[in-house]
Formats: sequence, C-alpha cells, structure tokens
Amino acid sequence: MTFEALGLNTSLIKALTDAGYTAPTPVQQQAIPAAIAGKDLLVSSQTGSGKTAAFMLPSLHRLSEIDPAAAGKTPNQEMQAARARGERPRFKAAQPKMLVLTPTRELALQVTSNTDKYSVNLRRLKAVSILGGMPYPKQMQLLAKNPEILVATPGRLIDHMESGKIDFSQLEILVLDEADRMLDMGFIDDIEKIVDATPSTRQTMLFSATLDGVVGNMARRITKDPQVIQILSAANKHENITQRVHFVDDLSHKNRLLDHLLRDDSLDQAVVFTATKRDADTIADRLNIAGFSAAALHGDMHQGARNRTLDSLRRGQVKILIATDVAARGIDVPTITHVFNYDLPKFPEDYVHRIGRTGRAGRNGLAISLVNHAEGMNVKRIERFTKQLIPVNVIEGYEPKKTASASRSSPRPGGWKPGDNRGGAKPSGQRTFSKPGAPRKEGSSTGGGYKGSNPRSTDGARRSYGDR
Ligand code: AMP
Repeated sequence: MTFEALGLNTSLIKALTDAGYTAPTPVQQQAIPAAIAGKDLLVSSQTGSGKTAAFMLPSLHRLSEIDPAAAGKTPNQEMQAARARGERPRFKAAQPKMLVLTPTRELALQVTSNTDKYSVNLRRLKAVSILGGMPYPKQMQLLAKNPEILVATPGRLIDHMESGKIDFSQLEILVLDEADRMLDMGFIDDIEKIVDATPSTRQTMLFSATLDGVVGNMARRITKDPQVIQILSAANKHENITQRVHFVDDLSHKNRLLDHLLRDDSLDQAVVFTATKRDADTIADRLNIAGFSAAALHGDMHQGARNRTLDSLRRGQVKILIATDVAARGIDVPTITHVFNYDLPKFPEDYVHRIGRTGRAGRNGLAISLVNHAEGMNVKRIERFTKQLIPVNVIEGYEPKKTASASRSSPRPGGWKPGDNRGGAKPSGQRTFSKPGAPRKEGSSTGGGYKGSNPRSTDGARRSYGDR
C-alpha cells in the first residue's frame, strides 16, 4: 500500500517522502480514503499508530482544494483596508476551516508541528496552536492572520470564542483527538459548547483509545453516519514493548535496582514515572549526583521550563526523564528505549499511556515496573485491563526477600482461565506467564538481554496536562 494509492495529492506525497514516510500505517490506510471522501470517522487507535497523519493528511488534501478566492480577505487585510479608507479598523474574528481539539498543550503543539511538516508544500494552509498558558496578545496576533487550521485545548478556545475572536461559521472539519482523555479531564461541557458553535454541515473525526461508554455516546451524538475504524495493531496492543515487573522489599531496594537497570547497555533514553512531583525532583537530583544526565518534568514547572526539558530530551542532552503522569501521554521521542514505573500509576489506563512512551515509530521498547509486595493487586488490575500478563523478573544480586509467587498469586485477566498455559515457578523464584496459545516469553534474568533498535532521530514532541 502506498500514499499515492490512498488518493493524496502530489504536494502532500512529496512532503511525506521528504519526512521519510514510506508507507501508510494501518490507521492511515483505513482513515485517509474515507476522510478524503468527506465521511465522518470514529477511530479507536492510540498515540504512536500514526493517527495525527490519519486525520491531518486527508484534511489538508480537502482544504487545499478550496478555492482561495472564495476564502475572502484575512482579518489583517480587512483592518489594513479599513485604515486605508481612513476608517477605524474593527477587529474581525478569525474564521478557521479546520479545528483540532486536543486534551493537552503538548499534544496540540505536536499536532501543529506535524501539520507544518505535512503542509510544507501547501503554503496557503497555516496551522496555529491556541493554548492555555500562552500570552493572549501573541494569540491575538496569530488569530488576526486568519489561519485555516486551529489546534486548540478546549478551555482557552472557549475564552476566545466568548470574547468574539473566533467565528466557526466557515468551519469545514472538526477533529477531536484523544477524545477519551478530554472527557477524563472534564472537558465535556466545553466540547459540547464548541461543537454547538460549528456548522452542522461539518465533517467530524473523533479519535480515541476507546469508543465505549461516555466517549461512544458523545461520538455518536456529534457525528453523522460515521465510518467506524478500530485498529488493533501491534503498537496498539504494545506487542513491541516487552513488559516486566520486579518486586522490591523497600525504598532502598527499589533505588538500588533502578540504579542498576538504568546502567543497562541497551538503554538509550528512559522515562521514570513517579507518583509525586516531589519524588520526581528528588530522584532527578539523586540520579544527577550518581552521574546520570537526568531531569524532572511535572505540573509544578512553568510551561517554558517543561518545553525546555522536553527539547533537551529530544536532543539527547537529557538521558533520563523523571516524570509524573504529566508526561504519560504524548511524549514522542523515538529514542526512548525504556520506561520505568518507579511507582505504579493510579489508573490502569495510565499504565498503557506511560509504557507507550517507548516503542515509538515501529521500534521495540522495554517497560519495567518496580512493585512493592503489597501492590500485587494493582499489577493484577493492570493485567486485567490490558489482557496481558506481565512477567515477573528477578535480577541476580537484587532478589527480593519474598518470592514473586508470595507477592502475586494467580493473576486472572478478563476472559482467561486460571492456569491456562502459565509458566511455573522458576528455580530463582521468577515466574513468567504467557498468553494462551502464544509462544511463552521468558524474561531476562540479567537485565541486559533487551536490544531495542534505537536509530537516533530528532523527531519528537512536547506535551503536558493543563489548559487555560
Ligand atoms: P502519532 O500516532 O500521530 O503520534 O504518530 C507517531 C509517530 O509516527 C510520529 O513520530 C509520526 O511522525 C510517525 N509516523 C506517522 N505516520 C508515519 C508513517 N506512515 N511512516 C513513518 N512514520 C510515521
């Protein structure tokens, strides 16, 4: 399958070739032709699957076909013309043709940066980010240029709509990216307000990790006869990410083990997730003292500092990022080979997002959770959610005092029968589990067995939580 076969125009194909994209991903193969045909889409696929291009490429294709003469003057041009006539210019609201709503600022910046990459040969089509945390005068300047594409977080967008700076009457395409997350973050009222302000003739594309429950209900309310696309690619199931659990007795055991694992030869860059901002800072300091190049990332930092930290990570100057769940979604740095859960996440969904920081763009990754014996139940909850068993691993010299089987007995992910094709206790006390029918996957007992394919790349992005 080629991008040409999907019906994209030559300007876009050239940009994709220059960006090094050789073939469309599964979500792109299904979404692009349907979206070019103007259909509404409900797509369940995760970050890392190529979903941004799946909605942005067909949108750019369609927008590039709109006659520029019919688009009228930009607000800037209208204001200049008024001045030339000796009139006092009145602010005219921006009238975007496309709106992408995202849950986080970093995802918005990533979508905008990908759009710039894809639209490089379509000079007329400009995308801007409208985000919380950005100075209002800067945003007014961006809006005055009447960009065709707005990529926005809901809260700040509502502010601009309410003050008459944006008019959606000309909107042709609405995209809700990571819709499930926007709802988790409490944006439902904002989203409905925004959707209500757009023409009912619009094309709507909704992307979400799940299309069940509240998201599904909203999705059906705001789309018309949508094409439903469910992608169960290896990346979605995280089959390219090796997962392991290491049980620890106490904090000192956890810190020693983390230190050892971070020295793994196959580690290029890593994200270590902590439960608290304070731990993120403390561990970053400790690792720097121990000679690692580490930096913290959490919600108490200003957006500028967060962006600088993520830029340093992308450039390879920071090797280990210690982060709270602020980074669980959206960091797209292909050279991240390892993810560590220093603390398990509160919700199983966040586990999936955290481990998805590695294994990007078709590479392999390793996700290691350091788990106290008392947290065995939380591991089971994650296993039930992902329908995957996570092998328990023990490293010589770092064995926990208790055995894994004492910490965790018979995990039973949904739908699987206990005892199905399970690995038994190993002589070391290590147990591995495998999916029924699948070849049994044994965890490495040295911590050095993983080899990710880590070609260096500068491709990446920034993101965090927070809006307004
Ligand atoms: P996304 O799921 O949109 O976050 O994309 C994940 C990563 O895959 C980003 O780094 C994209 O630049 C990259 N990507 C998207 N589509 C393709 C493709 N067809 N070929 C190669 N890389 C791609």
